[in-house]
Amino acid sequence: MTGGTRITVTGLPLDTGDGDWAEAQVRDHLAGQGACLHIVTMNAEMAIQAADNADLAAIIRAAGLVLADGSGVVWAAARRGRPVRKMAGVAFVEAIARACVANRRSLYLLGAAPGVAAAAAEVLQARYPELAIAGIRDGYFAPETEPEVLATIRESGAGALLVALGVPRQEVWISRHGAALGIRVAMGVGGSFDVISGRLQRAPGLMIRLHLEWLYRLVQEPWRWKRMASLLPRFVRAAIASESRERYTGSDAPRDGRRHDPA
Ligand code: UDP
Repeated sequence: MTGGTRITVTGLPLDTGDGDWAEAQVRDHLAGQGACLHIVTMNAEMAIQAADNADLAAIIRAAGLVLADGSGVVWAAARRGRPVRKMAGVAFVEAIARACVANRRSLYLLGAAPGVAAAAAEVLQARYPELAIAGIRDGYFAPETEPEVLATIRESGAGALLVALGVPRQEVWISRHGAALGIRVAMGVGGSFDVISGRLQRAPGLMIRLHLEWLYRLVQEPWRWKRMASLLPRFVRAAIASESRERYTGSDAPRDGRRHDPA
């Protein structure tokens, strides 16, 4: 297990610990009494959204765990001489499920189209038969039913909450409501329920190893081309521009003495 260092990429924090270390953080939080652990899975698209959205940037900076969920972020960290392994959000959902089983805490799935979270929960329970599902709710509820959604999650006694409402809504939602829900761990999972349920396919292993998962996703969801085409060059420019500043201000810090310089 390797872990412990938090670096700064495009002004945003990134934890370089490996998957075992990150899973151990989840187990510790499920067992502990402190504040809810907000896990953010960061990719280039999110980093550029955060450059335009100060609220999202502040939420990412306040998150307890920021995982590198994209080849762009892995690339930026490597340029800094701080190699980090990609940890796809969809894979980390399983780490959270394992941690829930280990700590005998239940998991709540919120978000995605009707039926999708339930199908994802079935797949997770088939993989982890001891996993307790605290509740399931699709992500297309009317704004006026939100208090009821919140009450249901709170009353479920869930230890961990997965929120699939898309970026940045899911991060804002967790930041706004996480503390009041009594949950110990929460993560925004984007399209993970669609993938876990089999509605969308994850890239084959070879493409993942070649860092081409993004390309596979674009082929399945072609509407993303335009968004990616404008965001990726911006991310590369931002990563290079912030590199020397972040390197020389020493904003990389061990997790204990967290320091983050603004972008
Ligand atoms: N979604 C939802 N309610 C909404 C909008 C989106 O539950 O009002 C779900 C959508 O069905 C999908 C997820 O949020 O399961 C967003 O997935 P996407 O891959 O677009 O997320 P990204 O990571 O790109 O933000």
